[in-house]
Amino acid sequence: MSFEHNYQVSSNFSELTHDFLSSHSIPPTPVNYSVIYLYISNENKLLSAAIDKQLKQKTVITADFIADLFKRYVSFSEQIENNVISPFEKTLTNMLSHINQQVGNEQKVSKSLQKLNTILKNKEHNQSLKHVVSFLSETINYSTTQHQALSKELSTTQQEINQLKSKLASSRQEALVDSLTGLLNRRGCDEKLQALPFSQTHSSPAIDIDHFKTINDDFGHFVGDQVIQRIAKIITNHISEQDLAVRFGGEEFVVVIANKSTSEATLIAEKIRLAIEKMRLIRKETNAYLPSISVSIGIADNKNVSDWNNLFKQADDALYQAKNSGRNRCICA
Ligand code: GH3
Ligand code: MG
Ligand code: MG
Repeated sequence: MSFEHNYQVSSNFSELTHDFLSSHSIPPTPVNYSVIYLYISNENKLLSAAIDKQLKQKTVITADFIADLFKRYVSFSEQIENNVISPFEKTLTNMLSHINQQVGNEQKVSKSLQKLNTILKNKEHNQSLKHVVSFLSETINYSTTQHQALSKELSTTQQEINQLKSKLASSRQEALVDSLTGLLNRRGCDEKLQALPFSQTHSSPAIDIDHFKTINDDFGHFVGDQVIQRIAKIITNHISEQDLAVRFGGEEFVVVIANKSTSEATLIAEKIRLAIEKMRLIRKETNAYLPSISVSIGIADNKNVSDWNNLFKQADDALYQAKNSGRNRCICA
């Protein structure tokens, strides 16, 4: 596809995006724009399906709905960065520098005209020349004002683009982290694992809270959430920066202890288990202690497995054994 063709296609999409935004009374913010642009260009099937469904049901497309789509699809879309933001930014920068150069030239001409005006003032004749100079002065000043206004507008757009880029970056970051605990979620785990060479020895404790359902049943979901948060904190306090702590599921965690075999990882896991067992939580409403909480831990290392999934599977099998042999214990695969 030629550049002209690409450019033509993109500007058609841009126009259709604007039409869509205005016909649905959606303000053309960078977030709304990028979501609808992806919809119009049909580059993301899931995003398109979500909007089509909304349109079919004749439900109003709200800011929240779009913000959710942005988080789920746009922030991970390379297209928006490569096909929309980058080319647009380049064009914008070129335009800005061109206009500012233009303003510079106009100001030079304006100065020359002012000088000429002073010279002509002292001469009686040259009436028509005076008119011409004054007309040129006015024209050039008008043009400068117009160009300066345009330049200001483009600078604002440039700021909006920067906001969009930082929004994309923070959405990407947010999407990798579990919002309750601040630990990595599974997606974040997958991403971080790519940077960890599987060829070196790593261990993985899989941790599951014992009888957690009873905590929820007896004290409510909110207290359950707080227990999950406290346990997450204990886990992070016991590992180093190069290790990964992941909220793998509801009340299940996986830790990847980098460059350590199971024997070293077991010592860490045992410390985590003891710290959780010792933890005493007080309920604010009743000022009474919660019963003590325990976790079961299964530990495996990657010596005899081919990939991360198999390592986690082995750790999970060991965890299952820990549960079956009485809970509140660590068992190595
Ligand atoms: P076991 O010792 O065998 O692990 O028993 P358990 O009760 O912990 O296990 P089970 O899998 O039966 O129950 C897990 C419960 O965790 C069920 C679910 O309601 C609860 N849960 C999952 N995610 C969350 C969450 O985010 N917050 C809260 N409060 N509860 C959650
Ligand atoms: Mg459990
Ligand atoms: Mg569980």
